[in-house]
Amino acid sequence: MNHDIFGFISNTNSLMLKHAYISRYDSTDHSYNPRRAQLLPFVSEKSGDKYAYSIICGLNKTRTSKDRLWIWKVLAQPRIQTFLWLVYHHKLPTTEHLCSRGILISFECSWCGALEESILHVLWECTTAKNLLSSLEIPPSKKGTFVLLIDEWLELNCEAYELHSLSIPWKIVFSCALWPLWKRRNKCIFEGYQPNTTLLHRKCLELSTEYFASMKHAATASTTTIQVRWSPPTKHWIKLNIDGSVRHCLGSAGAGGVLRNHLRGWIKGFSRILGYCNNHHAECWALRDGLIMALNMGIQFLLVELDVKIVCDLVSEMINDNLSLMPIIFDCRMLLGRFEGLRMQHIYQEANMVADQLARLASDSTRIPISLAGNILYF
Ligand SMILES: [Zn+2]
Repeated sequence: MNHDIFGFISNTNSLMLKHAYISRYDSTDHSYNPRRAQLLPFVSEKSGDKYAYSIICGLNKTRTSKDRLWIWKVLAQPRIQTFLWLVYHHKLPTTEHLCSRGILISFECSWCGALEESILHVLWECTTAKNLLSSLEIPPSKKGTFVLLIDEWLELNCEAYELHSLSIPWKIVFSCALWPLWKRRNKCIFEGYQPNTTLLHRKCLELSTEYFASMKHAATASTTTIQVRWSPPTKHWIKLNIDGSVRHCLGSAGAGGVLRNHLRGWIKGFSRILGYCNNHHAECWALRDGLIMALNMGIQFLLVELDVKIVCDLVSEMINDNLSLMPIIFDCRMLLGRFEGLRMQHIYQEANMVADQLARLASDSTRIPISLAGNILYF
């Protein structure tokens, strides 16, 4: 028996620790890795000191958050990124993992009958995994990574720029191979499916091609930036901005509107507590109240702006199929017909902020005495 530098007892004949090995585990990479435990068969909790075991397996230290960020930059769908995160952190619920948590009692791989289904087994050692990965034509420079630790293997392949034979970067093909493989494994266990390498191969190429095509589309798609702001009406016209507001948490709704001239001058505004209704009804009430306010002030040329497209279309008679809104819409149409000049347009909410605030004032019943419900407040 011999005491080594970590203080655990080992068998001299079979358990020679190499300096390079020790320094590697004690210096840089300290995450737990099942493969590491396999590579160090002489180290176990049963045969030696737990502290030494945890140092070598890296159980006593954790990676920094910076080390793990690369996973979220992998070119793959978010669900695949999440899956890779589980793999990288050794949290994939393989039988080995579930046994370690006392959920299962058998370590066996249900695909090939291997004694232990670890993460590395299910992703590259199991027969189905091996057949799939070899059918995908691994780039020559990445074949060597298949003897590395699983986290290094994962990182190097997920960042590989070499092209697959389909002219798709290997990093995309690789991540799109592991995800269907794991899903198929689950279907075999829980739904009685058979492992099918041909199907998995096709699924992987479909996923890779689809994702690569979407990337190219996103890269070429152009975006246009437009400035959104309120603008004054032309001379002799008055602009009416209206808006509705519904506070579902308070069970209250409100309507608001404001009249302004071509000099941006405030003419008159209103807020009205509506009780409870949906946003479309609140918008219609705001329009009706705004039109009545404008008519009462003798305004003849009115430009109406609102940010709910469906109300704009209903009033403009483009659609007539909303039975619950039609009574008040008919009322609004009748009022609109009384102006000498009338225009109505839909705008973005960002250009309708004053009316929005007046409507919110009414829907927020904590800011207005409840006794005023149903009344219109003019400003
Ligand atoms: Zn297996």
